[in-house]
Amino acid sequence: MAERMLKFASVTPQTPPKRGADERRGDFHEIYADFIEAKAAEQASRCSQCGVPFCQTHCPLHNNIPDWLKMTAEGRLEEAYALSSATSTLPEVCGRICPQDRLCEGGCVTEQAGFGAITIGAVERFINDHAWERGWVQPIRPARERAQSVGVVGAGPAGLSAADALRSAGYQVSVYDRYDRPGGLLMYGIPSFKLEKQVVARRTERLAEGGVVFKQGFELGRDASLSDLRARHDAVLLATGVYKAREIACPGIGSPGVVKALDYLIASNRTGLGDRVPEFQSGALNAAGKDVVVIGGGDTAMDCVRTAVRQGARSVTCLYRRDRANMPGSMREVANAEEEGVRFEWLAAPRSILGDSAGVTGVRALRMRLGAPDSTGRQAPEEVEGADFDLPAGLVIKALGFDPEDVATLWGAPDLKVSRWGSLRVDLTTMMTSLPGVFAAGDIVRGASLVVWAIRDGLDAAAAIGRWLEGRAALSKMAAE
Ligand SMILES: Cc1cc2nc3c(=O)[nH]c(=O)nc-3n(C[C@H](O)[C@H](O)[C@H](O)COP(=O)(O)OP(=O)(O)OC[C@H]3O[C@@H](n4cnc5c(N)ncnc54)[C@H](O)[C@@H]3O)c2cc1C
Ligand code: SF4
Repeated sequence: MAERMLKFASVTPQTPPKRGADERRGDFHEIYADFIEAKAAEQASRCSQCGVPFCQTHCPLHNNIPDWLKMTAEGRLEEAYALSSATSTLPEVCGRICPQDRLCEGGCVTEQAGFGAITIGAVERFINDHAWERGWVQPIRPARERAQSVGVVGAGPAGLSAADALRSAGYQVSVYDRYDRPGGLLMYGIPSFKLEKQVVARRTERLAEGGVVFKQGFELGRDASLSDLRARHDAVLLATGVYKAREIACPGIGSPGVVKALDYLIASNRTGLGDRVPEFQSGALNAAGKDVVVIGGGDTAMDCVRTAVRQGARSVTCLYRRDRANMPGSMREVANAEEEGVRFEWLAAPRSILGDSAGVTGVRALRMRLGAPDSTGRQAPEEVEGADFDLPAGLVIKALGFDPEDVATLWGAPDLKVSRWGSLRVDLTTMMTSLPGVFAAGDIVRGASLVVWAIRDGLDAAAAIGRWLEGRAALSKMAAE
């Protein structure tokens, strides 16, 4: 093994080549090229094959990383693919958009030892893209069909993962979603320069070919109540994500030209998919030629600033009330945004939105400093008196995060228990909500999180649903005997 592996000291860590900022500012294509096979093998060979692999511990899916790295280094790509896809339903997606620096690569021993992490995400992406190119990713063919059916509400990563696992176990699976295409935030939230839409579409097409029935344009609460769905299926999984945008209170925040991040990103993604989007065409959700200010410091804010650059904004500024070190967004995305020409105003927050009834003209910002730690241990930002400054703006985008909607009311299900944050309460050992046979997974349970956690939850929920349905089937059989 030593010959092929353990090259962390002699081989420099590398990600696949990144396109230059000038080029990528002009389009919405992904910014990283693919590894060529030899480069993937070389980078995989840096793995130190730890006895206790911390990369695996830090991956929410506990992907068997050291083994598929070794197989890649040895050119055994079909086996590497089989192993990688055994624990993940969307490995090529995670390889692209997981914040690896905070997950697998952050736990990598070679990173801790100062040699730089193995570029795990890039190798995962390579293995699985290669598998798609070679035709190794096949539709699901369950070993046996089961009569019981499961209704999954929400075609985001949590719902898709659960659908994949349940259909593989032979259940009849229908996925309901209010949008016209499946994928949830993978399709309509995350911009295509991070995740091209064909990567998502080929996955959902594979699920449909394997017998998963997609019912798009169906909104729970509008087209059926939760009790209607419970009557239609033996079990129901709620995986509807979180969509209520957090608000900020300051004078002028309701002015024309102040928009919500997700409205802006959905309009951009739909336009990229070839849909007609009147708000984009009218300029209401289009940054072209404008000075743009994005308020917020998470990954959604980074997606907005980088989208605005690509739409041809005159200037793009990100206002964040804490400093760079305390930013919730991935440092990799901040660096990409800076390369693409985004200006960051750290320790700054909006005092008021400037403008008139015709629209926004600017943002008056106040300067902050970090004060004493609050109850969570995080330093609370506080205002610096007399240090206000103005930024020109023709478009202001609010990207302050998301909370759950009032789902129990929306779905006509007053007995559905929610937490004090509005997320669905589940028993964590059974993933079941307060309603028998109704399970939940993903952001609607955890609050706004990550794709990889939605996949984890979807798989856990599918396993729990399978156990519950088997129990029910056994009881019916006993009753019939
Ligand atoms: C802009 C943005 C960028 C992000 N970037 C990243 C990233 O780079 N990396 C990362 O790991 N995570 C990222 N995330 C987070 C990640 O996208 C989410 O954590 C993940 O998508 C949650 O998956 P989910 O399946 O729970 O919900 P979603 O992906 O939100 O899917 C929920 C689905 O349910 C549907 N739905 C909702 N209500 C109803 C209803 N009443 N009836 C029918 N259907 C309904 C919705 O239409 C949607 O399709 C990002 C999030 C945003 C907003
Ligand atoms: S799923 Fe995410 S955390 Fe796990 S190995 Fe892949 S990139 Fe790393």
